[in-house]
Amino acid sequence: MTSVFYDLDDTCTNTTGILCGSLENVQKLRPFEGLVAVLGRADCQKHLVTSGVESVQREKIAVLGIALYFKSIRVCPEASDKLILFTEIKKSIPPCDHRSIVVVGNRIDAEIRYGNMLGFHTVRLKYGKYGSQKPRIKAEIPDYTLNDVRELGPILDRIGRY
Ligand SMILES: [Mg+2]
Repeated sequence: MTSVFYDLDDTCTNTTGILCGSLENVQKLRPFEGLVAVLGRADCQKHLVTSGVESVQREKIAVLGIALYFKSIRVCPEASDKLILFTEIKKSIPPCDHRSIVVVGNRIDAEIRYGNMLGFHTVRLKYGKYGSQKPRIKAEIPDYTLNDVRELGPILDRIGRY
């Protein structure tokens, strides 16, 4: 089965645009159009890996109402801690399924970089304050670049057929 590791901020919701750096508007966060449809796919196992203050990240997830779609939800203090979490979650996936692990995120210097290091399929969403980042090293080049999460479905279809 395909496993998909999702980032939260600027991947599941428009964090940069709605919060503008303040927590006042957390209650206004909504899932990106089309996200719930892709999270609801029965042919993928989903994991949410997000960095930040744990209570704040958990509140965002509650407001979005998406917790039920994930087999696991992990929060780490820094984006750089995601490499360790990705490695841990990978260990929980049967080796025969390692070739169909996908990471979806907006940061080429975090999710995409670590996903490439671990041999995952990497999908970059060009949202938010990291949308214009340019790859500095080969590991920061994603396999797929999307402008909209609704484009993710066909990619998961393709990876699932491998
Ligand atoms: Mg993000």
